[in-house]
Amino acid sequence: MEKIKEKCSFCGRSKKETAILIAGLDAFICDVCVNQAHLIVSEEIQERKKVPAARNEMKLLKPADIKKHLDEYVIGQDEAKRVLAVAVYNHYKRLNQKGFQKDDEVEIEKSNIILVGETGTGKTLLAKTISKILNVPFCIADATVLTEAGYVGEDVESILARLLQAADYNVEAAQRGIVFIDEVDKIARKSDNPSITRDVSGEGVQQALLKLLEGSSVNVPPQGGRKHPEQKMILLDTRNILFICGGAFDGIEKKIARRVQSKTIGYSASKETEAFDNTNMLRYISPQDLKSFGLIPELIGRLPVLSHLDPLDEKALKRILTEPKNALVKQYQKLLAMDGVSLSFDDDALDFIVQKAIEFKLGARGLRSICEGIMNDLMFDLPGQKAESKLVITKAYAEERFDKLKLARLKVA
Ligand code: ADP
Repeated sequence: MEKIKEKCSFCGRSKKETAILIAGLDAFICDVCVNQAHLIVSEEIQERKKVPAARNEMKLLKPADIKKHLDEYVIGQDEAKRVLAVAVYNHYKRLNQKGFQKDDEVEIEKSNIILVGETGTGKTLLAKTISKILNVPFCIADATVLTEAGYVGEDVESILARLLQAADYNVEAAQRGIVFIDEVDKIARKSDNPSITRDVSGEGVQQALLKLLEGSSVNVPPQGGRKHPEQKMILLDTRNILFICGGAFDGIEKKIARRVQSKTIGYSASKETEAFDNTNMLRYISPQDLKSFGLIPELIGRLPVLSHLDPLDEKALKRILTEPKNALVKQYQKLLAMDGVSLSFDDDALDFIVQKAIEFKLGARGLRSICEGIMNDLMFDLPGQKAESKLVITKAYAEERFDKLKLARLKVA
């Protein structure tokens, strides 16, 4: 058999030109090519890891499964979870069954969602958790910074730019993503009557949002904003993007109450009014109330799924501290476990934290700032010390730390 010349079969370098030449069955490879091949392989593996998200092989779960997953992260809010689970299930079912629709006249419409509930009750958390469960790109936009095109502020298109970024600039993935638009109540028009004068910050933005919500092709500046007019626009189809809007709609309870009461005046009125739960009027919310609050009917029409979130009481806040998969207490325990310390909280210390969160009207969002305040010194000192391996946060300790906190800062947090 003819002897193969000892040179790299990939780049042709002779044995002398290489540091190492590895022999195969009937070929050689040099050290340079091995390194290069290694690079190519690792890059390719990285790429492939991205593929499920990119191609959007999202998981289609049944509503009950979606709710079960939500339960792991979000406490309470059962009604919102059920409504969301069904809406999301239907939305993605509609996407996955596109092929079937060719000969079928029934076209399932998109079901964008609007969630009404006090701030810090879990609206964003619900939307974020859903996107995680489904493995789709997700972004949060704040309605208050949006303006109509041509005014100072962000164009509504910037929302899509953010989604595109979340999808690693994979257009196909972005087109099936979820956008959470926070504080939609802040773009309500000031009165129920359409006014002759233009309302730049409110109605105009609502109008601009319509275009995104209903499903159209939108030119998106990849970097967001109008600062780079020269950059190439990316065309994004919003037909299959699920929009979830959220807002506190402060004072809407009164509008609901008025509507509900005016309905019940009449025969059997007394019976019906008795059945109303006056402590939580939000549960009776209807699209009409959103209209009285100042959302334009066209926008309400494009947000057909409406649900509410309940205010969080003491019991719920305490559960939030300890139960969700990434509950605060669990997070601190994990952090300290890395320093070899096992951490626990006394029950009345947890009650104290909850009490303070309620007192300062901080809701669930406040739990974090209070815990940080209580834990900060500890986490600062601990790593340097020969610490005990067990640490219990007592109520007395929590109180002492809390008193040292700058309360003013907490109030604005
Ligand atoms: P908002 O309703 O204002 O969108 P968020 O969802 O942003 O409120 O909630 C703020 C934080 O409070 C969340 O990151 C989460 O840690 C906590 N939180 C709020 N509501 C809940 C809930 N129902 N279950 C678990 N955590 C919650």
